Amino acid sequence: MYQQLITKLLSHQNIGVFSHIRPDGDCLGSQIALCQWLKKNGVNARAFNEHDATRTLQWLTDFCKLEKPIGFNPDEFDAFVFVDGNALHRFGEVAEQLGESGKPLYMIDHHPDPEPVFDTFVSDTNATSTCEMVFLMIEEHDVNKIDEGIAKALYTGIMTDTGSFQFDSVKPVTFRAVSELIARGKFTPNVIAEEIYSSKKAEQLQLMSMALGTIELHENQQIATMYVTKAMFDETETTGEDTEGFVQYPLSIEGIKACVFFREEAKDSFKISLRSRSNIDTNKWARKMNGGGHRKASGARYEGSLQDAIKTALAIGKEQL
Ligand code: 5GP
Ligand code: MN
Repeated sequence: MYQQLITKLLSHQNIGVFSHIRPDGDCLGSQIALCQWLKKNGVNARAFNEHDATRTLQWLTDFCKLEKPIGFNPDEFDAFVFVDGNALHRFGEVAEQLGESGKPLYMIDHHPDPEPVFDTFVSDTNATSTCEMVFLMIEEHDVNKIDEGIAKALYTGIMTDTGSFQFDSVKPVTFRAVSELIARGKFTPNVIAEEIYSSKKAEQLQLMSMALGTIELHENQQIATMYVTKAMFDETETTGEDTEGFVQYPLSIEGIKACVFFREEAKDSFKISLRSRSNIDTNKWARKMNGGGHRKASGARYEGSLQDAIKTALAIGKEQL
């Protein structure tokens, strides 16, 4: 499945690897693992993102520097790789221009409906994560190349994109991958869990308690909404990245089919997270709000008041029931 991509990647001298904007564990993990693997195979790989790694993921950049594409010159590269996203605009303004660079564009991703701009790509909507795919790619080439850095980066993305192995995307291959990773990387899973889940600030829990207070149930208790406003961030001295994981809480209410989490990023400008644990397809839902994602987890943005954001999201969600 990966042979063609492996051959192409290893035929280049200089590769720029991009992860999607507002990076998460899966895109950073796959990007950082891929760069390490390319370097081990003699390819000069550099990792780019317009945004910084969030606090709990910062440690991953010890294995591979994450650069901002400031003063980016496409001529310094022979090819570009995009991980954990399948449309160029997901990778920021610099990446969006690379369609016109004339250089080969490669992609590894697990979202539906890839944009038809990639020369060679592997797209697998059944994979838990892009990290699981990168593991399979490296395994197909030479599993002995997996060292501590590659293993920890890939484990991180598999863990975070599966909600710690709870989602229905998890399959035997997932556990085979993590089993290989912890054996070859010589670490125990608690080390990564500590980094990601047990390094919260007290302020973050204060914010969470405010957010939980906003939970409301709609449509016969089938859809839950929750929000965080700018005022709440100000009061608790927190920021958007401190809401990581919040969206799982309304989804854990008995009988809930889907939930929507609104995060005010600037006055009347919202980031929306959609989650489902039913046959509601959040990708379809998000696309109607100019966003996208997977069946069970998607995102979008909304410009307008909180009341209008909730009304709009619920009207579309209702159609999905
Ligand atoms: P989250 O709610 O965690 O930010 O995003 C969940 C998933 O939805 C992500 O893995 C990503 O695939 C997708 N997603 C989030 N925000 C956007 C967006 O603004 N546009 C698109 N196309 N997909 C998004
Ligand atoms: Mn992912």
